[in-house]
Amino acid sequence: MGILDKLFGGEEETAAPKYSHVKIHPQVDNGVKPATPGFSGGSLKCKCSSDPVVVVLEAQTAHNHVCGCTKCWKPEGAIFSQVAVVGRDKLKVTENADKLEVVDASAAIQRHACKGCGVHMYGRIEDTGHPFHGLDFVHTELSPQTGWAPAEFAAFVSSIIESGVDPDRMDEIRGRLRELGLEPYDCLSPPLMDLIATHVAKQKGVLR
Ligand SMILES: [Zn+2]
Ligand SMILES: [Zn+2]
Repeated sequence: MGILDKLFGGEEETAAPKYSHVKIHPQVDNGVKPATPGFSGGSLKCKCSSDPVVVVLEAQTAHNHVCGCTKCWKPEGAIFSQVAVVGRDKLKVTENADKLEVVDASAAIQRHACKGCGVHMYGRIEDTGHPFHGLDFVHTELSPQTGWAPAEFAAFVSSIIESGVDPDRMDEIRGRLRELGLEPYDCLSPPLMDLIATHVAKQKGVLR
């Protein structure tokens, strides 16, 4: 190996992650896996050992991300949830629908949770004027299938402090998110914020 290789070779490219000790969510902690091309859906199952609720998604999800808000369902010990969207016409509850109840009927997103295990099976927006009406929020980690669209960014990162995370940890948490390629935002990603603003502008009539 020549001197240039030593100076500019492998070591630089494989710089060890600095924040790999920081846990974000089990689905991303070991690296974000790409989607399987052509993947077209699967099922989600709650965590009840008997009579689980089963939801079928007849499409690949979009806008998957880790979320730091206090409302999304998170697996035990995780500081972020992982949540994606799918068209509401592509989602069907196929088993044990009677076990579902809405967590907070006054919330914009009505989260349908299993009364047995507490897992949120899907979140639905009933307000037809809402920018995200028509999209259901789902956690694809509940699926036995692999190939789902991976997380693309981190939303509502500062909100994890509201769940009790020490504010002094924010540098390492944002550092880890960047190492994983999940750009941290304190609201949603710019494309989704633009989508919301465009919707509002059209409602007001300032945009057509
Ligand atoms: Zn359950
Ligand atoms: Zn959330």
